[in-house]
Amino acid sequence: MALITGCGQGLEKVSKSSEMSSAPAKATPNTTPNSAKDSLSSGKPVSDRSANPKGSVFILEYHHLGISKDTMFRSPDQFKGDLERLYKMGFRPETVNDYLKGSTELAKGASPAVFTFDDSNPDQVKLNPDGSLASDCFLGIWQDFTKTHPDFPIRATFFVLPDTMWGQRKMLSAKLDLLRKLGCELANHTMTHPVLRKLTDEKAEYEIGEAEMRLEKLGVAAPASLALPFGVSPHNKGILSGFDYQGKHIAPKAVFLVGANPAPPVSSPKFNGLRVPRIQACEGPFGITYWLDQVDSNKVKLFVAG
Ligand SMILES: [Zn+2]
Repeated sequence: MALITGCGQGLEKVSKSSEMSSAPAKATPNTTPNSAKDSLSSGKPVSDRSANPKGSVFILEYHHLGISKDTMFRSPDQFKGDLERLYKMGFRPETVNDYLKGSTELAKGASPAVFTFDDSNPDQVKLNPDGSLASDCFLGIWQDFTKTHPDFPIRATFFVLPDTMWGQRKMLSAKLDLLRKLGCELANHTMTHPVLRKLTDEKAEYEIGEAEMRLEKLGVAAPASLALPFGVSPHNKGILSGFDYQGKHIAPKAVFLVGANPAPPVSSPKFNGLRVPRIQACEGPFGITYWLDQVDSNKVKLFVAG
């Protein structure tokens, strides 16, 4: 069976970061924390659309920031364009956990845009030497956008590889603090981004289980959700439902694919927590622009908060 990965192209690549920083380890990000309630509820409905709890949810998937024809990249202008278009269409950001709770915190009239960033690439979260968020990373661009769109605050889920978390290793704790303050969350993308199907059960369990334990050490509440590297399940799919690893039962909260269509809300009978689809942030078939155009032409009915 062919894999549907979105944007008509193949598979994710792993970016190994060799970037190190000599910046101080305890730099303090200069970002103002904001709570979901402060930012999302101005009292005014986001749109005059009727509530639609059965509508589809856009779970967006970003990898690299940069100019390239490779569908793993989104240019800064394209990312700004995504934020602008989503905002105008009545989307508001939320995390994977918000989605799994039923998108209950969204303001009336809003549709959820679940932002996910895979592979913990350095261009996702980058700090300046003084600890402030750099302008040439996804979060820096988004932070800039929030200055003119305070009701579109940074909310995202990062599916990370614990050993390659955004480079700048000496600034890791500052980045984790910043993400926590912003209301972002971390989730599991395995230890080394393998094709799980090619591994023995034991190795597949190590990849998922060890990453989960590493996330727990960073303060992530178990169970974490899992994004499958390349969207490929282990040969033994039962592993995704749970297994024992080092005396602990590991069962991903939900399992996310690479492609390639809007997801049903968790209340839908179509929701399958072991196969949650996402939309790659790229041009071409089944990418973000394709699906937003489908919404504009009324071919996709969105979830709308009531
Ligand atoms: Zn990946």
